Amino acid sequence: MPYKNKEQQKAYQRAYHLANRECHLVACKRRREEDPKRIKAEKAAYYQRNRKVIREKHKAYREANSDRIKGQKRLYYQEHKAECNAASKRNYRRRTDEDPERMRRGGREAYARNKDVHKERVRAWRRNNPEAWSQINRMWVTKRNRLLESTPGDVERADWLQILRVYAYGCDICGEQLTGRTATMDHFIPISGGGTNWPDNLRPLCRSCNARKHNKMPTRSQCEAYIWFRIVNRLPCNRLYTEVEQAA
Ligand SMILES: [Zn+2]
Repeated sequence: MPYKNKEQQKAYQRAYHLANRECHLVACKRRREEDPKRIKAEKAAYYQRNRKVIREKHKAYREANSDRIKGQKRLYYQEHKAECNAASKRNYRRRTDEDPERMRRGGREAYARNKDVHKERVRAWRRNNPEAWSQINRMWVTKRNRLLESTPGDVERADWLQILRVYAYGCDICGEQLTGRTATMDHFIPISGGGTNWPDNLRPLCRSCNARKHNKMPTRSQCEAYIWFRIVNRLPCNRLYTEVEQAA
């Protein structure tokens, strides 16, 4: 018999359910076990019909209980650390295999978003692992020195001071004002790319520009600007190419 009052109908159904709860649960269980496939299909159909509402409900729940969910996740992680770490490593490897460029881009973006956090993390690691850090550092310095020793060219202190003067003690990339102490010697054509140690290949950069440049080769237009600047200011640059050609 159709009810006119929906609220009343609902209340009646609830009361009926509570009165016969045990019986209902048994019946439901039997129904689930009889045909699990049908139940699954019904659930999926229900989800499709009410997709929007369900998703909004879930979203609202997540937002309202974000702290609790975070706590649960943290707890789960604490209890399943090894599994979680292995799974995320597996995932990372799979995604890198699928699309390495996308992963590289994502990494760069994540770094840019939280630069300070990342930097602090690295600093903290150095503080907590002084032995390992100094070992890495020694390795770098040794490698660098060996490379420098086997590189042709020689620069006198007077040459370097002359270069600094001509560049007006400014970083050649960002223009930051430098001093004799803060200026770093940049090999315009990187040593690893066949550049030499002659004054022709040296210019002042600030520490961060030098680090950022690392061992990148200059572009053609950068080369032109470099040579033009050297010629105008009577700094040597003849050996820039001849040495590279000999090395090649
Ligand atoms: Zn700079």
